[in-house]
Amino acid sequence: MAISRQVWKLLERRNAELGPRGEPTRALTHWRYTRDEEGIVWLIFDRAGESANTLSEAVIAELYMVLEDLRGLNAKALVIRSAKKGGFAAGADIRDFRGIRDPAEVQKRIQRAHEIIDRLAALAMPTIAVIHGHCLGGGLELALACKYRIAVSGASFGFPEVLLGLHPGLGGTFRLTSLIDPVEAMRMMLTGRTVHTRKAKALGLVDEIVEERQVRQAVHAAVAGGLKRGTGGWKAGVFGLGPARRMAAGRMRAEAEKNAPKNHYPAPYRLIELWEEHGGDSRAMQRAEIRSFSELLVGETAQNLIRVFFLRERLRTLAKGESGIRRVHVVGAGTMGGDIAAWCAARGLRVTLTDLDPKAIARAIGRASEFFDKRLYSRGERRDALDRLMPDFDGAGVEKADLVIEAVAERAEVKRRVYESIAPRMKPDAILATNTSSIPLETLREGLPFAERFVGLHFFNPVTRMELIEIVAHDSAGEETLRRARAFCGDISRLPAPVKSAPGFLVNRALTPYLVEAFVMFDEGVPKEVIDRAARDFGMPMGPIELADRVGLDICLEVARMLKERLAEPMPEIPAWLVHKVEAGETGRKAGRGFYVYDEKGEPRKEKPADAGKAETPHADTDMADRLILPMLNTLVRCLREGVVADDEIADAAMIFGTGFAPFRGGPFCYARSRGPDEIVARLRQLEEKHGPRFAPDEGWERLTG
Ligand code: NAD
Repeated sequence: MAISRQVWKLLERRNAELGPRGEPTRALTHWRYTRDEEGIVWLIFDRAGESANTLSEAVIAELYMVLEDLRGLNAKALVIRSAKKGGFAAGADIRDFRGIRDPAEVQKRIQRAHEIIDRLAALAMPTIAVIHGHCLGGGLELALACKYRIAVSGASFGFPEVLLGLHPGLGGTFRLTSLIDPVEAMRMMLTGRTVHTRKAKALGLVDEIVEERQVRQAVHAAVAGGLKRGTGGWKAGVFGLGPARRMAAGRMRAEAEKNAPKNHYPAPYRLIELWEEHGGDSRAMQRAEIRSFSELLVGETAQNLIRVFFLRERLRTLAKGESGIRRVHVVGAGTMGGDIAAWCAARGLRVTLTDLDPKAIARAIGRASEFFDKRLYSRGERRDALDRLMPDFDGAGVEKADLVIEAVAERAEVKRRVYESIAPRMKPDAILATNTSSIPLETLREGLPFAERFVGLHFFNPVTRMELIEIVAHDSAGEETLRRARAFCGDISRLPAPVKSAPGFLVNRALTPYLVEAFVMFDEGVPKEVIDRAARDFGMPMGPIELADRVGLDICLEVARMLKERLAEPMPEIPAWLVHKVEAGETGRKAGRGFYVYDEKGEPRKEKPADAGKAETPHADTDMADRLILPMLNTLVRCLREGVVADDEIADAAMIFGTGFAPFRGGPFCYARSRGPDEIVARLRQLEEKHGPRFAPDEGWERLTG
């Protein structure tokens, strides 16, 4: 969205090439327009070579050409529409933001983009954005620069910039806060949440909602001055006053603190400051917006979050293609199987769900119904999803399924027995997948008549929230099976991370040393709250102790034992009290008691880490974070060296989307690179000396340091 000097020069040259009546002499690439018999210019946004509209440097530069052309067209009004099926515009082209480091250069380029959007806003004629589908970020800023916004039913609006460590940068901050209730405007920008048509109308963000067939009529009404403008902005007057803004800003800061600490996520705080200082003064706010946006964009957090955006894109690309999977049969209706079935049904697949225990099926269907009620938008969608999810008490669904997912107890002999009974009944091209979290696939595929169609689809808990699925290969897996398994992830809006079958695969193997180190610290007498705080301060979404409770201490114990048994690398002893805890049924959140005690909502009761638990030395928290995080990094380096994962980007993506690893750090490898691999190796050596061989740096670090 920023305009570089080079493009600007091209524009100037093109202007010199305009015909005598200002008509274009060169074709536009991303826009086209026609003037109808009533003098209304219909400007169609149709980004070349892309399925969705995004605002790039070139797109905005061409908009400048259009605005120049408009002078010679004797237009009565300008209407902007999108030619893309999915919506008006998905936002700025993030590719323009990548790797930028010089704030002054960014500022200059953003400034020019503002000049073009200001030109649109300053047109004397009626300007009307007709919006269908998504209207996000830069797209919404473009629409806000028009005098009217007409929404086609089903459109949605939002400013997701905050999720990239930014705030709106093309006029959104001052245009939205002066158009609608500024507190609502700030909420939209601070949360990144989208609002749907009706809410947008109530807010005054759009002036009219119409069906597609009524667009022309609504446009004519707007041109004739007969369209009632939204009135959401009356509160702008109240918040024009400094003291009112200061009070509201204080509340916003307190709210932001709950989700995003300032030192890790500066954007929300910069946005609040921007409005607090300049709200009501559009010019001043615009200048401040440009400055603040430019500084944020070159900062570590935004650049890392932009990296995460592209990591997601990379995994999405792996999930492209046709899976050929329409019907899914899930065996095992427990925690995982039940939720996998519900998720697949919500995403449009026909699902049969079976279990040895009919009560487990009933419970899973009940849970699915609650999930559909919460997450699906319309009553029709909820009914359809429930219709697609079929309880299957005798397991007959296996015969019609294109994919069978096994999620029964974590015991090889149990799983193999299930395969023996279902394999002969499966369709000849159907895939058999296991959700095992630890058993090598080479063990499970033994005796299968079609090992090439066997694969690991390792979902993460909770299935409805964790986006990642590890696609686990093994020595006999067919390429086509792996490809279809990845494409299946695309079908159900999940991200595939291809990994090799190895103990713990990638994510659990890297997570286990982190959890076990937390147990060792607890053993040393460090209060659990203090351990969790050290990890959260580093940026993890929850501490290792709370995470272990969530995963289930029984499962953690099983995985830790398995890894200790099968891997040559040194691991700490598993504390005896952990075994006793599990034997006593204190298996974590699901049992209401693990390390923490849980209330009926599943929230841990935490004691304030009183000063007794506070770090004894000023560096103790950093020390603790290193003890927790560096073994995880060390394991990932080892996995990369052993070929468990193909490259560090996939490893970073897997840890972010599978465990929530601090996204603002860009992933474990990105963090290691920014801190310096040499410095990490030196630190691991120090820890090795102090705490033992489990910290010995892996030889794979050489590849990163070299
Ligand atoms: P669970 O104990 O909650 O559910 C297992 C279900 O399988 C039970 O309802 C049981 O009745 C059923 N079952 C057992 N034998 C069966 C058979 N022969 N035929 C049909 N049903 C049978 O277990 P879970 O936590 O859902 O784990 C299932 C699988 O998913 C395991 O392989 C586990 O390692 C893996 N996994 C678990 C998690 C997790 O966090 N719980 C995460 C990823 C993967």
